[in-house]
Amino acid sequence: MVHLVHQFLTETARRDSARTALIAGDARRNFAELDRESDAIACALQSAGIARGDRVAVMLENSVEYVAGLFATLKAGGIFVPVNPSTKADKLAYLLADADVRLLIAPAALARQVLPALEAVETSPSVLWVGTALPAGAKGLLYADALSSPQRHPADPRLIDQDLAAIMYTSGTTGRPKGVMLTHANYVNTTWAISTYLGNTPDDVVMCVLPLTFGYGLSQVMTAVRVGFTLVLERSFAFPAETLKRMVGHRVTGLPGVPTIFSTLLGLEAAKTADLGSLRYLTNAAAPLPAAHLRRLRERFPQAAFHSMYGMTECCTRISTLDPADLERKPTSVGRAIPNSEAFVADEDGNRLPPGQVGELVVRGANVMRGYWNRPEDTARHLRRGPQGDTLLFTGDLFSQDAEGHLYFVSRKDDVFKCRGEKVSPKEVENALYELDGVLEACVIGVPDDADGLAVKAFLVPREGADLSEAAIRQHCRGRLESHLVPKLIEFRNSLPKTDSGKIRRAELTEEATTSDGNTRPLS
Ligand code: ATP
Ligand code: MG
Repeated sequence: MVHLVHQFLTETARRDSARTALIAGDARRNFAELDRESDAIACALQSAGIARGDRVAVMLENSVEYVAGLFATLKAGGIFVPVNPSTKADKLAYLLADADVRLLIAPAALARQVLPALEAVETSPSVLWVGTALPAGAKGLLYADALSSPQRHPADPRLIDQDLAAIMYTSGTTGRPKGVMLTHANYVNTTWAISTYLGNTPDDVVMCVLPLTFGYGLSQVMTAVRVGFTLVLERSFAFPAETLKRMVGHRVTGLPGVPTIFSTLLGLEAAKTADLGSLRYLTNAAAPLPAAHLRRLRERFPQAAFHSMYGMTECCTRISTLDPADLERKPTSVGRAIPNSEAFVADEDGNRLPPGQVGELVVRGANVMRGYWNRPEDTARHLRRGPQGDTLLFTGDLFSQDAEGHLYFVSRKDDVFKCRGEKVSPKEVENALYELDGVLEACVIGVPDDADGLAVKAFLVPREGADLSEAAIRQHCRGRLESHLVPKLIEFRNSLPKTDSGKIRRAELTEEATTSDGNTRPLS
């Protein structure tokens, strides 16, 4: 029985050594090669002094080196800290100091971001550089040299499943990212639950356009290595037509996505005719998928099961999933809690609310984090002791639950606002806007308004060539929404600000709208 995440790789490499583990551009590795590569890097980490509990940050794009760096860290006994390679020097310095990182694996090509950050932290980590030569003025070791070191097997760091495997920083949708502490046991449990409900087998080929620095992306790697299926890694979804060709070429069976990925896919001309008959499943998580998008996805990919999922970094990514068999009956639900966990709707004191009532979602179980790294106050706010002494995670998300336990996301607690004294849940308005064919992206916020307190404002990104008028949008909304929900202000944009994981940054739009009146146009 496997208790530690990296043992999955060793086991799969032994069982199915020649099967392709990773395809990343021109690079390919089978499971045996990936196991050997991560062993060699683990030896280099241990030679650099990494031992049980030391933080190792990996600041790489989706690549073979990222995955090898992850498993090398765990094999050496370290705690994995993923850092998005687009992170600028000052934020990188914050993360390196916050997590007290001992060793950083970074691309030589990003030396201009990395070197100033190393200087800014008090005890700067050693660096393993991925590239052909050390950057000018840099100290450290080259990844390629580490690979050829004579030592082949790392010393056993004697971990137990309660040791930390990763500190994952949250998406930062609502402020400074917080480091979420996750144990080996958290990952062993959730990868089992995920691969079971998706029915993964070694024959799967999963396309991962999600950044691996994001919990949902990382869980793809963990699951693939556990089950022994092939993962196709893309650096991003910036060139969707190219990605689409690779999906067809590799006969991809699974596509995990977030709503902005699916809206791009649906807007892509080539996706209308591409042969994606191999696609067995699609998954959505990270933000609510508009009902209209779900409908279109099901029309386009009738053979693929659709898994509507919900989760957060604090729960090792996964809290709930909807059985595709229930999709017809409950299209707006994100399903029920995954096995070995419980999710219920509660009042502020954690008392369970009856079905149908809206309250905060509370989770207990094998997926719940240890706490926030170095943030005892945040930890105490989100993790509380339940009546039976168990740990309860307060998610900060508002939900309702039906009598069968199915969950319905209402809003983030902080996103709900009052307009004319009545509650507005942005998702409800956004869903109505997405029903318009010409709407590619929508984000609704409350902006200060003398008459309404907060007025409903919609930011819209129109589909190319779409003919959207404000009057038509309001007329459409009037037919579907209560009057206080109809957007008073509408602003068209070419794009909306997003987090690295592809979520629309509502907080940034709110801040912008409250500090200036932009070019909003009031309802005439
Ligand atoms: P931060 O905590 O730094 O502000 P974040 O909450 O966006 O950022 P994540 O842990 O990546 O960071 O995201 C978890 C959140 O995403 C959940 O708490 C929830 O608000 C939202 N979310 C996830 N899945 C869904 C879904 N299927 N529908 C609606 N919202 C979702
Ligand atoms: Mg959060």
